[in-house]
Amino acid sequence: MATLEIKDLHVTVATEDGAKEILKGVDLTIRAGETHAIMGPNGSGKSTLAYAIAGHPKYDVTGGSVLLDGEDVLEMSVDERARAGLFLAMQYPVEVPGVSMSNFLRTAATAVREEAPALRHWVKEVKQAMAELDIDPAFAERSVNEGFSGGEKKRHEILQLALLKPKFAVLDETDSGLDVDALRVVSEGVNRYKANGETGVLLITHYTRILKHITPDFVHVFAGGRIVESGGAELAEVLERDGYVRYTASA
Ligand code: ADP
Ligand code: MG
Ligand code: MG
Repeated sequence: MATLEIKDLHVTVATEDGAKEILKGVDLTIRAGETHAIMGPNGSGKSTLAYAIAGHPKYDVTGGSVLLDGEDVLEMSVDERARAGLFLAMQYPVEVPGVSMSNFLRTAATAVREEAPALRHWVKEVKQAMAELDIDPAFAERSVNEGFSGGEKKRHEILQLALLKPKFAVLDETDSGLDVDALRVVSEGVNRYKANGETGVLLITHYTRILKHITPDFVHVFAGGRIVESGGAELAEVLERDGYVRYTASA
């Protein structure tokens, strides 16, 4: 069974005042079929964790390890991480002017599957996935993320999830900027992706509202660059009621 193992991860980021340590020893194991939520105050390092797993060049891993089925993720190129089955949806997805969504998705699928999907089958697959996410078919011909609304970007992330079928998905603030209807559609998309019971999800969020649609098996509180408490879905309710004050006061 697939396992993503983060051990004592330390990450620094280059700032104008030199390197600053953001992650201070993160330990987290996610098994296939599990959904983990990471919740925490702004600036606690949640996105830094996602970027470090993704291999963003600005984030320097100074200690610890990330293993996917025992393989060292940190040694892999960004493409290799995708081929190994990791999917990382970023809080601020990039725009790729001049590249249509349909081309982008087919290129991504080709990279992950290591062969180009047969065109006729592919077109059908994309159409169906788009319909399930209430995405306008015209969307396929638009440039990647260019001029997309917040909600459209998030739907696009989940469309990638549906088509690329990664083993593990890291979703950073997938709920931010979504209205109630978009939140429901996006959550249903994540739940469909999870339904085979073979995939792992790391859901990073500041607010509890997405957790009303996507039930996590584990909730972790992130503060000061590390996990300071872990529990089940009920922990999210405690956080909703009490906020993060308890954790930030001592951090
Ligand atoms: P969160 O996602 O929990 O809000 P982030 O990981 O975005 O937190 O940020 C954690 C801390 O690291 C913040 O103090 C932020 O200013 C700093 N940080 C993150 N990325 C950078 C960067 N590229 N340059 C400088 N500082 C950064
Ligand atoms: Mg933030
Ligand atoms: Mg963030």
